[in-house]
Amino acid sequence: MTAIFFLLFALVAGNFFRISVIQNKKFQDMANDQHFGAITIPAHRGTIYDANNATLAKSATVYRVFLDPQLFRTEMEDLQKRIDKREADSKKGIDPVKNEDGTVKYPLPESVGKFKSDAKKLLSEQLGITEQDVEDAMNDEYQYAVLQSQVEKQAADTVLEFFNQYLLTSLDVEEDTKRYYPQNELAASVIGFTSSNGGVYGLEAYYDDYLAGVDGRTVSAKDSNGNELPYRYSKTYAAKNGDDLYLTLDMNIQHYLEKHLQEMTEQYEVANRSCAILMNAKTGAIYGMATYPGFDPNDPYEIHDQRVAAEIENMSEELQKVRKSQEQEYQWKNKCITEVYEPGSVFKVITSSAAFEERLIDLTNDSFFCSGSVTLDGAAPINCHKLPPGHGAQTFQQALTNSCNPAFMNIGFRLGTEKFSYYFDAFGLRERTGIDLPAESVGIGHDSSSMSEVDLAVDSFGQGETITPIEMITSYAAAINGGYLLQPYVVDRIVDKDGNVVLKNERTVRRQVVSSDTSDTIRSCLEQVVVGNSGGNVTIKGYSIGGKSGTSERLSLSPGPDDSFYGASYVCFTPADDPELILLVLADLPNADIGYYGSIVAVPTARDILTDVLPYMGYSPEYSEEELANLDVTVPFLEGSLEAAKTTLEGLGLNAVPIGSGSNVTAQSPVTGTVTAKGSTVYLYTDSGTDSETTEVPNFVTMTPEQVNDALVMYDLNYVSKGAPVTRQNAVVNSQSIAPGTPVPVGTVVELEFIVYADQD
Ligand SMILES: [Zn+2]
Repeated sequence: MTAIFFLLFALVAGNFFRISVIQNKKFQDMANDQHFGAITIPAHRGTIYDANNATLAKSATVYRVFLDPQLFRTEMEDLQKRIDKREADSKKGIDPVKNEDGTVKYPLPESVGKFKSDAKKLLSEQLGITEQDVEDAMNDEYQYAVLQSQVEKQAADTVLEFFNQYLLTSLDVEEDTKRYYPQNELAASVIGFTSSNGGVYGLEAYYDDYLAGVDGRTVSAKDSNGNELPYRYSKTYAAKNGDDLYLTLDMNIQHYLEKHLQEMTEQYEVANRSCAILMNAKTGAIYGMATYPGFDPNDPYEIHDQRVAAEIENMSEELQKVRKSQEQEYQWKNKCITEVYEPGSVFKVITSSAAFEERLIDLTNDSFFCSGSVTLDGAAPINCHKLPPGHGAQTFQQALTNSCNPAFMNIGFRLGTEKFSYYFDAFGLRERTGIDLPAESVGIGHDSSSMSEVDLAVDSFGQGETITPIEMITSYAAAINGGYLLQPYVVDRIVDKDGNVVLKNERTVRRQVVSSDTSDTIRSCLEQVVVGNSGGNVTIKGYSIGGKSGTSERLSLSPGPDDSFYGASYVCFTPADDPELILLVLADLPNADIGYYGSIVAVPTARDILTDVLPYMGYSPEYSEEELANLDVTVPFLEGSLEAAKTTLEGLGLNAVPIGSGSNVTAQSPVTGTVTAKGSTVYLYTDSGTDSETTEVPNFVTMTPEQVNDALVMYDLNYVSKGAPVTRQNAVVNSQSIAPGTPVPVGTVVELEFIVYADQD
């Protein structure tokens, strides 16, 4: 019954969508056919600005070109008469009236037929319509036939001029507006787009009432024959222009999110798109919200994913139509708020918070045993990601750091179905967050009344429920921000054309879910997860971070492509002791042959995003003593005295290798400004005429830090690391910034990303 209900719902929703969005233009045109006697003065639609007043969406004046078919036919008869008269005059030897420069003052076409065919050709060229469309308009029975909307000024002027040269007024233009998105794809799923009928998606739709303004009108009275009465009987109502939106979203932060999502999506061949949210953990203000791939709101109907577009290209015309409209709807959806997923182990943050709030966990004395597998009555065994013998005996902190499923099943059983469901609802996982964006979905969880032991077990580690990314990050934020479930928001304020703030969004607490003590506990446990498993979490030198990764089986999806079965995600926050930023990254259906653990796929992306965002937002690094001792060095300008260069390098903890026998440095490698690891070697070219020496980059991938050091000496190269600390046991190189085999100058710095493969989730 549920399946049938959802099918019917989907059909109704789909039909509504088709009528309201896809066929919008058709209905609009039908309405325009009835347009008599009143001329619309379109309101100027409001602009959308980012947090720094950069323009994300704006309107410009364009034109609607229309024909009055009745008048056109009258004018054609009149034109024929004028041509006949000119010919008659010509036979009588009467010349047409001339201008001072000798040209004919009132030019006429060769014939009415020639005029019509020229008009059809010109209009179809300039307006992007067919000649048949023009022909149909000429024969229309009404007084108003729109030829084309959203026409740029130059094309509108060209077609007007063509009619006006023969004193014909049956073709005319009306002012209209066109929406431009100067940042193209950036934040498209948040901003949305418009049709001639107003906002269709995203903020454009949600705040349409503010953005649209109110069109003005000039209404003129008509006589019984439908002819307009003189001007004095008309009345004009001025347009009220739309309000402007100022977002909390920052274009630069958004760019970082999208750039790194794209890299992840391509590297791991993510089949069901990726998304990321960066939010203020204390207020719910959204700094960035991205879905990749997205679309270009300047041309929203075009399929943006080139792979999909090529697939559609090869289909039959009938199938093309169906598939294209499916893909359009898919690419417009903001994955962060409209799609649900199994959160996997990230959900353990919620289970833990509930258990702490109920005082069911003793951090010091409790022990959670994992044998690698648990078999519940009448069910198939449930495995830990660490197969038998499993994790063994663990404290709560170890169980969380290990992300041990059997331990969390135990915690779930301590809570019981009623309390588990209570907290599921308290954390807002079965309700909309209330974010100011349209089409938000809600999570689905088991009711306590019908929840089995197995349901409770798998729900406790995030596998039995489906929630939206925005629900996940909002509930996680509540767990770490003192217990406050917030209402996230994208718009900071709305300002009218006179500069008055007509709407202001602020921190809105929906409710307090857990106590600040519980929140303190879970926050410090999550920081310890990062410290204890730096290889599987985001670590950035100088910043304290708490986080939890998740790898879920996407059981709620119909089967994806082969080997793509997982949702890989990560949610982290910083500063760890007083979180201001919280970040979620989700890769939905990465190619499992390449990688599918949250710690492998999503963690590096979250790290790359924060590495860009933190300095941009003005967060300064605070290094620990160990970090300070091993801090990377920026290579200075060294040209001049060789002895002075050597002294400078020594002071920085760098080695100097002179090339040639001169006493003056004329060039250096690495070049000035390069960041490299402490202990790197700088090659100093002296003035004895030596050429620069080159080497070749070896394949560092899977090398341990010791092997890397040997290779660097052998190849005369330097390195700088990111990812897992090189001091961590089992750290190996996962990727390198310069491809193996590339010839480079000696001393070149290769960026190496380290990772720890053991015990991933
Ligand atoms: Zn385990």
